Amino acid sequence: MRTTTGWQAVGGELRRAPLERRALRPDDLAIRVDYCGVCHTDLHAIRSADAPLVPGHEFTGVVTETGPEVTGFAIGDPVAVGNIVDSCGACAMCLAGQENFCHEFPTLTYGGTDRHDGSTTLGAYSREYVVRDRFAYPLPRGLDPAGAAPLLCAGITVWEPLRALGAGPGSRVAVAGLGGLGHLAVKFAVALGAETTVISRSADKAADARLLGAHDLIVSTGAEGMAGAREKFDVVIDTISAPHDLGPYLRLVAMDGTLSHLGHLGPVTVNTLDLLVGRKKLSSAGSGGRPATAAMLAFCAAHGITADVEVLPSARVTGALERLDRGDVHHRFVLDLSDLD
Ligand SMILES: [Zn+2]
Ligand SMILES: [Zn+2]
Repeated sequence: MRTTTGWQAVGGELRRAPLERRALRPDDLAIRVDYCGVCHTDLHAIRSADAPLVPGHEFTGVVTETGPEVTGFAIGDPVAVGNIVDSCGACAMCLAGQENFCHEFPTLTYGGTDRHDGSTTLGAYSREYVVRDRFAYPLPRGLDPAGAAPLLCAGITVWEPLRALGAGPGSRVAVAGLGGLGHLAVKFAVALGAETTVISRSADKAADARLLGAHDLIVSTGAEGMAGAREKFDVVIDTISAPHDLGPYLRLVAMDGTLSHLGHLGPVTVNTLDLLVGRKKLSSAGSGGRPATAAMLAFCAAHGITADVEVLPSARVTGALERLDRGDVHHRFVLDLSDLD
């Protein structure tokens, strides 16, 4: 075992604590975690944890040690890791490069069960992480490591559906919500060449949307704007993190188009007439496979895309979570873990 320091949630509160990491296996990397994004999932996990938990599943850092079978990484390499750290490697999904849909369920970066020793994985609100090499990605030089951290959860979660649904030149994409997921969805859709519109509760976000490259903004609370955008979009990416009525968003989807509902997981109620009229599809997505994650990072490097982040010393994590809960974030908090040394 090796020891490090991190932020551990006990009874809903985060406390600085010593943590144990496994001794390196032959195909493991040890990573000094420099930056870790603060995801909505972390907020839910901290609140509902009944056992001590270390959150954090979108991070960047530097390789500090490699196991004897590691060939793709060397000490000093900048790397990025997302929200899955292992999978069975043998099921149809894994063989198709969709490890995020592994039939045995992928091993989550925190709160998951290690496939070898059965231990519970501890996340990257921590100065060190030990990960199987297959689930670390070289961080392209030129991408700011703080801004790149949120690409590994928020980014890949919107990248896969945008690619799968054909967002690109000639397609019209709408993005509902401008948080961590939404603002990256806008940047990706614009860079992919789609005509891109933001749907927001208020017109206050118009300047913000334009800065992100969006061509238009529709106010979701305005009946006129929503009616005027009826059946306008081939793809609607819904990143709203609270439960909400999907009807108004389905009515924006063009014939044979798709609403991809990503921000809030769980049961939803849909009037099938909202699908029937226009033969519309309702979909969801989350995380990404290894090939798509690597492709997204290459695309980001080519287009100079990172998340818009507010970087905070990790000791201020509780304040960041409170602000995230209030929606007071522009557009993603990233923790700088160097204060744990
Ligand atoms: Zn996340
Ligand atoms: Zn699998």
